[in-house]
Amino acid sequence: MSSPTAHLLEAIAFAAAKHRDQRRKDPEASPYINHPITLAHLLATTGGVDDVVVLQAAILHDTIEDTQTVYAELLDRFGKEVADVVAEVTDDKSLPKEQRKELQVTHAPHASRQAALVKLADKICNLRDIAASPPRGWPLERQRDYFDWAKRVVDRLPPVSEPLSAAFEAAYAARP
Ligand code: ZN
Repeated sequence: MSSPTAHLLEAIAFAAAKHRDQRRKDPEASPYINHPITLAHLLATTGGVDDVVVLQAAILHDTIEDTQTVYAELLDRFGKEVADVVAEVTDDKSLPKEQRKELQVTHAPHASRQAALVKLADKICNLRDIAASPPRGWPLERQRDYFDWAKRVVDRLPPVSEPLSAAFEAAYAARP
């Protein structure tokens, strides 16, 4: 049996390979993998999360949505618990963008504790990133819309972490 640390490192290696050709939308075009790593780090530090399933799911949270990764692959490599959390935080890309965004709002109250933690951390990281260095080609209005939409999602999540909720409010306070 490998240790929780080994499982986490395996998830990082897997996600790094899957996201290898992707960059973030910031002007510096940071390597994509920085985002899931920052998210897991935020959960482990501010959130005090030591549940390795949550941390693995955080590392893997964008693999199905933004790479060729399929659920069965995660199931096979990381087990059902991790794969299910990732599936839960994955948008259905066959739907139009506006509908996907609305579904995040309506689905939020039904999120599992593990998925709610990942979603909350994801929104915190995204708001911080936008405030620190707005994505290329995003006018102020689009940045503000993102902040407001993220708040609508987060306000409807089940309460899972006071320190992370506070971190979200602090991030939201920097709304451009
Ligand atoms: Zn993300």
